[in-house]
Amino acid sequence: MEHMSKKDTMALREKHIGKSCQLFFRQDPLKITRAKAQYLYDEKGDAYLDCINNVAHVGHCHPAVVEAGCAQMSVLNTNNRFLHDNIVLCAQRIISTMPDKLSVCYFVNSGSEANDLALRLAQIHTGNRQIVALEHAYHGHLTSLIDISHYKFNLPGGPPQKDHVHVASCPDTYRGKFRDSEHPKEALSKLYSDEIAAICAKVRDEKGEGICAFIAESLLSCGGQVIPPENYLKDVYDHIRQAGGICIADEVQVGFGRLGKQWWGFQLHDVVPDIVTMGKPMGNGHPVAAVVTTQEIADSFANTGVEYFNTYGGNPVSCAIANAVFDTIERENLREHALVVGEYLFDACQMLAKKHMCIGDVRGMGLFLGIELVKDRELRIPDKETATYVVSRMRAEHILVSSDGPDHNVIKIKPPMVFNKENVDEFVSTLDRVLKERRESSQGQAAVKGTETPSKEGRTRKPIKEERIKSI
Ligand code: PMP
Repeated sequence: MEHMSKKDTMALREKHIGKSCQLFFRQDPLKITRAKAQYLYDEKGDAYLDCINNVAHVGHCHPAVVEAGCAQMSVLNTNNRFLHDNIVLCAQRIISTMPDKLSVCYFVNSGSEANDLALRLAQIHTGNRQIVALEHAYHGHLTSLIDISHYKFNLPGGPPQKDHVHVASCPDTYRGKFRDSEHPKEALSKLYSDEIAAICAKVRDEKGEGICAFIAESLLSCGGQVIPPENYLKDVYDHIRQAGGICIADEVQVGFGRLGKQWWGFQLHDVVPDIVTMGKPMGNGHPVAAVVTTQEIADSFANTGVEYFNTYGGNPVSCAIANAVFDTIERENLREHALVVGEYLFDACQMLAKKHMCIGDVRGMGLFLGIELVKDRELRIPDKETATYVVSRMRAEHILVSSDGPDHNVIKIKPPMVFNKENVDEFVSTLDRVLKERRESSQGQAAVKGTETPSKEGRTRKPIKEERIKSI
């Protein structure tokens, strides 16, 4: 039940909510009042196709998840210092999707908390402090994570890079340091992973220390939906382990079957991490996250004698919800669905690339896709302006997408897993129209600013101020 006008909500937010808190379309924000499956509805009841919400994994307000949460909330919610079935069943569920050696869980409330605990475990287990992370990576908003997230500390107002943090190039073979246009495909993994070997050697020679941990997403979301080259993670894991470190797979964005084939992104690379962190999709919007590790690492933590307690982590309601998410993924075959619909989407985007020269690359897996926009295909010059235009115009067409990557030129698609082929058709035909319109307007030098853009209903809307939206 909404009581306030959008204007009043905006005014109150302006007054009482920190200005640095992200807001999509800040110049003309959306007020979303309800959601269902892959649709969001604003205060007027207008529907938006949600192509960016990887948190509402099994669909917004999925009845089975809502019911599980409500039912448990009406019986008991308390911290996990009492025995309860939900937490152990949830742990068992997670472990059943993991390689054998990953057998111990810790429950927390967000991806940031999960990564912070992972760093703590790594420090305790290895006795080292040096962290290796990737360029453009984001691992969370806690101080410990901003320190290792190049995506944030690299910004003009960000903190200086800390001495214990070492950043290796993002293994982006399309527009990164080593490209598939300049090197044979087989050489790329070694070129990128050798950088990590060099970091390990430098740390040893200059600091006389071993490595604590390497942390990376198995497919890099903030870096621009990047898929590392084959064998890259295998080689990196070898280098890190030889330097005394452990390997952390951040599955906060790509986990829980989004990639279709496997439950977890690291499984696509045929590696076994020492710690896996997960969050976002785990609670379908409810704050629940987890860290999974080996018995050995868990023992090192326990042997410190310092007990771990987290007031909300693993409470019966959160675990009931996470269990319902697992059930729903399985009951509705959502991994298979992500694979089939994802392939359909990938192929349709590839077809679009044949028509629009500004599409330089289409990449991804399952329902995790990136469309990289360029000004020149040969030179691969990023086209941030077209990406910004696309995000803004798609919103006017009631389709929500975001852009990301270091040059903000990659259109990200990571919808709820119930996204279907009709949604793909709608997305692709609208993108086709928007890109055509962009090409024609830039060819004719006709400024789009100040003109009116047609809405989905055939009405005309004032143009939405162009701006980039992010979705982390
Ligand atoms: N890791 C990755 C890869 C993420 O994308 C995010 C959030 N976008 C986090 C960690 C942090 O998760 P949270 O916002 O739940 O703290």
